[in-house]
Amino acid sequence: MSSIGFIGLGNMGGGMAANLVKAGHAVTAFDLSEAALARAEAAGCTRAASAADAVTGVSIVVTMLPAGKHVRAVYGEQLLGAVGPDTLLIDCSTIDVASARAVIEQAAEHGLAMVDAPVSGGIAAANGGTLTFMVGGEDAAFARAEPILQAMGKAVIHAGAAGAGQAAKIVNNMLLGATMVATCEAFALAEKLGLDLQTFFDISSKASGQSWSMTSYCPVPGVGPETPADRDYEGGFANALMLKDLKLAVEAAHGVDASVPMGAAAESLYQALVNSGAGAKDFSSMIRFLKGAAA
Ligand code: NAD
Repeated sequence: MSSIGFIGLGNMGGGMAANLVKAGHAVTAFDLSEAALARAEAAGCTRAASAADAVTGVSIVVTMLPAGKHVRAVYGEQLLGAVGPDTLLIDCSTIDVASARAVIEQAAEHGLAMVDAPVSGGIAAANGGTLTFMVGGEDAAFARAEPILQAMGKAVIHAGAAGAGQAAKIVNNMLLGATMVATCEAFALAEKLGLDLQTFFDISSKASGQSWSMTSYCPVPGVGPETPADRDYEGGFANALMLKDLKLAVEAAHGVDASVPMGAAAESLYQALVNSGAGAKDFSSMIRFLKGAAA
């Protein structure tokens, strides 16, 4: 059992902190939102008065914050000066690679080990303890983080050095965004060409056009396995979050002079979809946008 300070108890962090409690860890929690804090307390966490208070005297810190600017501010201004010398820092937020590397470097200057450990899997996986963690950092830090992350996930993979977890996450999601757009436009075209969409699914999901977006997350209601498409595109992975990850991927690509025309096209399409008012809908609702229906 470890003593853990957990900062950021939102949609994802709330369920993750609860799973650490279930695994027998002592979790001290902080969030700016009173509602989030109350939920964490009900799940068995101890409430802290500030981020610094949550991490004082703990052996592990876990953060699940919105974006790079929050992670830089929380670590730089509050956590690094408050934690003890042997504390392991684990940031699970999805952020830009440059911020991840900068904060890990800053932690090292304080003599602290830190890993970036973003997740794949949404709110249901966070609640159910079935997330996949992609971890960047040194071997020794990974070895310490692994059993903690296992209490919140089904897979924990060491992606490489500092920032490699974030790199793997955004590259994977760029691929996901591009295949979802391609799958949506393929179904929209198949329909206009008079194909029965279940029949097209049966063919393409076994043929060379198949992908996870097709076989596991089909964007057409009533076709393939049950997905958010069957629930009016509610739940699942929000368009606004897909847009965030595509922006991070395209920004990272510019930083290393990589050519990502498909990623950039997916980014501009998800930007248009979010601008249409569909930011909270599932990312497979791209098909309605492409078909010209109201979001
Ligand atoms: P969220 O907005 O629901 O939660 C973030 C929490 O951080 C909020 O409760 C907010 O009050 C808190 N917070 C912000 N600044 C703070 C500060 N200075 N001190 C303390 N608390 C602070 O977001 P989420 O959906 O839980 O996502 C968290 C991260 O996980 C994001 O980086 C997101 O991209 C990533 N992610 C989300 C999903 C998903 O499906 N929601 C899936 C994979 C990854």
